Amino acid sequence: METIDLISLRNYSKRTSQATHPELLDVRPMEHVTNIEIDEEHVTIEYNEKTTRYYNVNEITKSEWIYKYNDDPEFVEAVARVIALARKRLKNVPENVACPPGCAECCSGYEPFVSASDVQRIADHLGMSYEAVMRAYVVPRTSADGHYVGWLRKVSDDLADQCIFLMGSRSGRYYCGIYPARPGDCREFTPIGCEDVDKTLPRTSAFKIGPAFQPRHPRRKRNGKR
Ligand code: SF4
Ligand code: SF4
Repeated sequence: METIDLISLRNYSKRTSQATHPELLDVRPMEHVTNIEIDEEHVTIEYNEKTTRYYNVNEITKSEWIYKYNDDPEFVEAVARVIALARKRLKNVPENVACPPGCAECCSGYEPFVSASDVQRIADHLGMSYEAVMRAYVVPRTSADGHYVGWLRKVSDDLADQCIFLMGSRSGRYYCGIYPARPGDCREFTPIGCEDVDKTLPRTSAFKIGPAFQPRHPRRKRNGKR
């Protein structure tokens, strides 16, 4: 990532023959701007983003240009006003900042990847061995970096079907049957900006979940073997 601080541009100008005044800079390399961020001291522009796709992992590289403007009082004042306004607007958080209880659309359209420690946590939670959980609930597929060992099975072979651990299909109000042991992928999932939300579900009424997921396979005996 390349960072240019316009307060100390002399070296940058020597190296690149670029002008030291922002208005004289050749900004053509910045045509593909992906993000502009303003804080109390800097304007940061991200551009020329490149995505390299690997199995399970996308590596994103980008260039960055930073203008440090705190010696420009007019600009500072204007930006301070923009920041104050943005902070005020932050109160208008999106409606779906929390999932409506019972919604689990994402537990269908999406396959959570699991690491070895996710599988072990689920195994401990269900009183099963690691191998038994792998056989019964995981589609094995090791990721290129070795972190993931596969993804959670669906109730059928159809990938658009529900996660095998999703409960509550009769009532239509769903819940995770292994919630305390759910994979890291599910823990990191955020509903902010979610467009799959089930809009028919109320957000305020109490929601009582049913029993936890019970494995069909026999539980591990006390000596640790099934
Ligand atoms: S493990 Fe739980 S939270 Fe994760 S997809 Fe399955 S039902 Fe949903
Ligand atoms: S609101 Fe979105 S993120 Fe939350 S459970 Fe529903 S589909 Fe999943």
